[in-house]
Formats: sequence, C-alpha cells, structure tokens
Amino acid sequence: MEFQTKLIHGNWSGDSKTGATNVPLYYSNAFIYKSAKELENIFAGRETGYVYSRIGNPTVEAFEKRIAAAEDGVAAVATSSGMSAIYLAMMNILKPGDEMIASSGIFGGTYNLFKHLEDYSIHVKFLGKLDEETLNSAITDRTKVVFAETIGNPKLDVLDIETVSMICQKKNVIFAVDSTITSPYLMRPIEYGADIVIHSTSKYINGNSSAIGGIVVDGGSKKYRDDKFTGFQQYVKRYGKFAYTAKLRNEIGKDIGAVMSPMNSFLNLVGIESLGLRMTAHCQNAIGLAEYLLTHDKILHVNYPLLEHSSYYDIAKKYYKKGASAILTCRLGSKENAFNFIDNLKLISNLVNIGDARTLIVHPASTICIHNTYEEKEQMGVYEDLVRISVGIEELTDILEDIDQALKKV
Ligand SMILES: *Cc1c(COP(=O)(O)O)cnc(C)c1O
Repeated sequence: MEFQTKLIHGNWSGDSKTGATNVPLYYSNAFIYKSAKELENIFAGRETGYVYSRIGNPTVEAFEKRIAAAEDGVAAVATSSGMSAIYLAMMNILKPGDEMIASSGIFGGTYNLFKHLEDYSIHVKFLGKLDEETLNSAITDRTKVVFAETIGNPKLDVLDIETVSMICQKKNVIFAVDSTITSPYLMRPIEYGADIVIHSTSKYINGNSSAIGGIVVDGGSKKYRDDKFTGFQQYVKRYGKFAYTAKLRNEIGKDIGAVMSPMNSFLNLVGIESLGLRMTAHCQNAIGLAEYLLTHDKILHVNYPLLEHSSYYDIAKKYYKKGASAILTCRLGSKENAFNFIDNLKLISNLVNIGDARTLIVHPASTICIHNTYEEKEQMGVYEDLVRISVGIEELTDILEDIDQALKKV
C-alpha cells in the first residue's frame, strides 16, 4: 500500500462483527471471560486477549496498528501524552548509571524532563549539534540512547538522520527520534535506521487539536540482543523483533499506566486519515508565509529550514522534498514589538500549541521557556524578540492579510 492508502486502510478492513467502517469505540474498562481457565491462559501469556483497558483496549490497539503501518514499524504503544511517550520510551531502556545524549534544540518540555533524569542518576549530555565529531566524542560505554527531533521545536535545526543513525549503529546505541513536527507523511525515521520513533499525537496526527496523546513506535531493532541492554534478554528470547514493545507493555507501560483513552484513539484515527492532505497544505502555506515575511521590513529575521539563507537549507532539501513542516520563527527587534504583533492579530490565535488546522502564534521566551536560563534559551534558539508561528491550513491570503495588518501596528 502507498502511504496515503495506509493512513486509511493500514491494518484495518472494517469491523468484522458489524461491518462498521470506522473503528468502534470500546468504552469498557474490563472484558468478561466465561471460564477461569481462559483468563489464566491470558495472564500466563499462553493466549492473547483483552483483560483490562490499562493493559489493552481494541480501539487503542487499532490506532497503534495504524501508526505502526504508517511508520513501517513492527508495533506501537499509544500513551496519554507526547511527554509520557518520551518518558516511557526512554525509561524502558535506561537504568541508574546510564548515559544518554540529546540534541539541545529539542522541545522545552523534553529538555526539562531529561534534565530531571539526573535525579535518578541518569546522565544526559546535551549537544548543540549531532554529527560524527560531537557524537564520537560524547558516546561512552555507558551511553544507551541518542535522542533527537527530526526538526527541532522551536530551534528548527534539521537532523542529519542518516549520519546519526550510522554512528548509533556502529556504537550499538539506540537511536530514538521524536518526529512530532514532521509526522510520518514527511519523514519515516525507521527507513533511515532509527530504532524508535516517538510522536506527540496531539499535533499533526490528531490534526485538529481535539486530543492529547503520544505514541512510541518500535522499529524492531536487533540492538537489544547485546548484553549491554540488560533486561531485554528474556524478551529477545521470547518475542524476537518485538522485544522492545513486549518489555514496554509488560513493565513500565503497564506499571505507570499512562495509557491513551479509547476516545482519544478514536479521534486520532479520524484525524490521521487526512494527514497527507493536511501536511501538503500546511507545508505550502508555511513556505508561502516564510517568503512573505522575508520581504517585510518589520521582520528582522525569518527561520524556516527551506529558506535558502537557513544554515539547514541543504540538509532540509535532502530529506524534506515534500516540505519541511509548518513551524517557523521570526524576530521583530524587541520583546515589545513581538508582543504588539501578537496582540494585534485577529485570525491567528495566541496559544501554546502546534500542528493545529488553525494558524497559531506564541512568544516562546515568556511562555514555554520562561523557566529556562538565558543560556538554555540561546541553546534552544529562543530570543526575547522571537515569535513562533505554527502555520495552519486556512487560505494563505487570509493568513497574510492578518499578519500584514498586525505588523502595520508594530
Ligand atoms: C508537543 C510536543 C511534545 C509533547 O507532547 P504533549 O502531547 O504535549 O505531551 C513533545 N515533542 C514535541 C516535538 C512536541 O512538539
């Protein structure tokens, strides 16, 4: 199946019992079994079946399978948010004394989460750039994971996924990629050798801002066979290429219980059917707006990877032929100008979110990154005069008109 077809038909051919085209919404905490023996068989792992919705639910599972198909993964685990997906994905691998590496341009929430892993004796090294030189000197025998975003939010640094993947392969380190900003329509990290793909489904996958959620996609890596990944060995023996997912489901996933609700899975299943069409429109509007802002005298700098002056232009061209998503940032010279601009917008909403059908704007320095130090903000590409725009799928002329009238008042 081609990608757009998988979004609609991947691992799904209608409900066999009723013929319903959409995945039925199973709102049930638990599932009945006629005999005690049947339930025993499930708990003993001799048979599969639904028991309790913290452990498994048919609607949630349908969503997991659809995303696994879209990402070319072997399996996926849906979670209550993007943050819980990242936490569970990492803690399924890491133990006290371990090290991990993350790019410093990542989403502020993730940056803070990783900083706090120090409290559990897990050391996170933040690198401004992930390349052969920086990674080779940062990776030690204790390094278990390299974590990066396909395109950093809001720094908009573009990951050279092939290079990082090659180094992780050589050093036998798990390569985990947060692809929230690019979605499986623009980038499928597993094809480039990533071991794990993570999404905040709250953004482009859901598509209309109606459900918080996350997902961890398992690429079926062979790396877990190495003795250095203690804790995986029993799962490798029993579940082979599903070892990572089996451990996640059996241990921390089930124990923490940060599951996606059936309702949110249903909303995401509806959302993902139009992902390809939406991303095409998002990307077209984003480059249109970026080029317009470039010519505007109130805007001092525009950051979008597919603009020729971007330091990531070449790499963005290489990986993002269909578009480099729809997040851009621009600088207005002062915090006052940035605030004035935001306050005068009428169509565009001032809020902390991305990936909505609507165009959104935010001032990161005073919101998402308010608790970070000046140095941390700089590392994340956040300045006092910078605004971040998540370009929606309205008509571009309406977006430009709103921006133009607001900039006139700055
Ligand atoms: C929003 C976001 C997250 C966090 O996801 P939530 O669903 O808000 O918990 C993680 N990574 C990236 C890149 C994001 O944009």
